[in-house]
Amino acid sequence: MNETPNVTLARGDGIGPEITDAVLNILDSAGARLNFEEIQIGETQFLSGHKSGIAPETWETIRKNPVFLKAPITTPLGGGYKSLNVTIRKSLNLFANVRPSRAYAPYVPCQFENMDLVVIRENEEDLYAGIEHQQTAEVTQVLKLITRPGCERIVRYAFEYARAHGRKHVTCMTKNNIMKHTDGLFSKVFHEIAQEYPDIQNDHQIIDIGAARVAAEPHKFDVIVTLNLYGDIISDIASQVTGSVGLAGSANIGEHVSMFEAVHGSAPDIAGKDLANPSGLLLGATQMLVHLGQQDVAQRIENAWLKTLEDGVHTGDLFGAQSTQRVGCKAFAKAIAERLG
Ligand code: NAD
Repeated sequence: MNETPNVTLARGDGIGPEITDAVLNILDSAGARLNFEEIQIGETQFLSGHKSGIAPETWETIRKNPVFLKAPITTPLGGGYKSLNVTIRKSLNLFANVRPSRAYAPYVPCQFENMDLVVIRENEEDLYAGIEHQQTAEVTQVLKLITRPGCERIVRYAFEYARAHGRKHVTCMTKNNIMKHTDGLFSKVFHEIAQEYPDIQNDHQIIDIGAARVAAEPHKFDVIVTLNLYGDIISDIASQVTGSVGLAGSANIGEHVSMFEAVHGSAPDIAGKDLANPSGLLLGATQMLVHLGQQDVAQRIENAWLKTLEDGVHTGDLFGAQSTQRVGCKAFAKAIAERLG
């Protein structure tokens, strides 16, 4: 990997710019070797007439750089705008969405101290394929697209991820009792590919009871592989169970380009008030550093971040009995930078 790789950067909307500033300050203080190329996407682009939220020439920058760090963006309501996130994932073939959720108890209150799971979500197919239309004034339709190559790729990725990260168990979640063809194909491929990984345990759970268990006993899960929509929902449940949706980062892995972001959205209700927790984007950025071979920098940042939480320096969303200091986004980032070893 290049010594100083190029990184496409989008500051996003809502709380995006403030959490981006916080993350860039920490990356800089930690000595991350990154060369940023900034692009404009999202709300401003939607409102200036680009229906997809991105100017055509911007794709060139995104496609030529190996990684993309993206703050959350706002899709304006009404006007029939398509989600730019979905467009980016599909256009760049970002087939795997990797969303780790870990308990940081006792520093961040969480009932499940040993919780440490990763949701690996298929990221291109399913109901997110965008095959949706209005049949008549009263009937709408969406097509659930599931292909064997798509299932094979994500299931194999999940087992390879488990091996590479010393994880022991992969759980597949589908609704194959009802959607026998689509979800049935996903679970069938899962059972076939699981045979190739005798060193990793596996099981299948129906998504509804599986989601209930993620909420009630998340510490019993290790790696979960699932379809696009289910993965979107259970990863939010998992991150909320750890204490806040503001705590989860996410990697969108493709063959040529990979994109890193926070799990949460642009939080317009707290935008511009220096209240946002930058941890989600920061943990997305540390996933990016590991992807680029800068594990040393990623580890230093994570240690400093954990020390900040341990010292009780918390943003408002985490503030509670364990907190010693309530800080804004800027002061939280400064506290992390001061704790870099
Ligand atoms: P949201 O995640 O933005 O906010 C949900 C709640 O969590 C809000 O109360 C918010 O204040 C809080 N929250 C979120 N992130 C936080 C943080 N870092 N620190 C502290 N509190 C935080 O979800 P939403 O309100 O449903 O969506 C708002 C906008 O974000 C929408 O336009 C949506 O399309 C967009 N969105 C973007 C992405 C993305 O770019 N990846 C993902 C989800 C939603």
